[in-house]
Amino acid sequence: MIKMIFATTNQGKIKEIKEILGDINEDIVSLKEAGIDVDIVENGKTFEENAIIKAKTIMEMTGQMVLADDSGLEVDAMDKQPGIYSARFMGKDTSYEVKNRAIIDNLKGLEGDKRSARFVCAIAAVLPDGEVITTRGTIEGIIADEPKGENGFGYDPIVYVPEYGMTTGEMSPELKNSISHRGKALMAMKKILKEKSLI
Ligand code: IMP
Repeated sequence: MIKMIFATTNQGKIKEIKEILGDINEDIVSLKEAGIDVDIVENGKTFEENAIIKAKTIMEMTGQMVLADDSGLEVDAMDKQPGIYSARFMGKDTSYEVKNRAIIDNLKGLEGDKRSARFVCAIAAVLPDGEVITTRGTIEGIIADEPKGENGFGYDPIVYVPEYGMTTGEMSPELKNSISHRGKALMAMKKILKEKSLI
């Protein structure tokens, strides 16, 4: 029996989510594994709203508990952009090499704290009775002067985390998962679902 669906088509994300959730990973399936093919319009104004839209759509199709996430990068000097538009920033087909360079160029002349930024992840769970639970995780950093690191994806090479002296793109998957926005939001969700005896 499927216990819960994680509303993503991104197999990389599912892999990361299963690694983070550890002991309950057998109970989670992706949209693909659940045989669902649907295009969801993410027209929310916040990370939470977008995660809820995704989870609710799939819960209504399946009647099962559904989890979904929405994440992105907030750059303070850019008025918290790209934010919820992180995947679509400069067009979704534009390479991250170009997007990352554009953000670095945007921050030219700014130093230290003025380069502050964070990854944000909201997770939503929508239960079969319609109850909605959300959690949020963040990881604070500063925009690096130059991209660095081959690990991770997206904006990882430009988010430098001072405490660790490296970008999230230089971190091992284990280290990134243990401190990342997605890791924190997922662990908080796992705790709530366990307390409610839902997992
Ligand atoms: P989502 O799949 O709609 O949540 O879009 C998230 C987007 O935010 C990704 O396509 C990336 O551009 C960015 N993003 C979110 N989390 C990360 C991360 O851990 N590393 C790098 N980029 C991220």
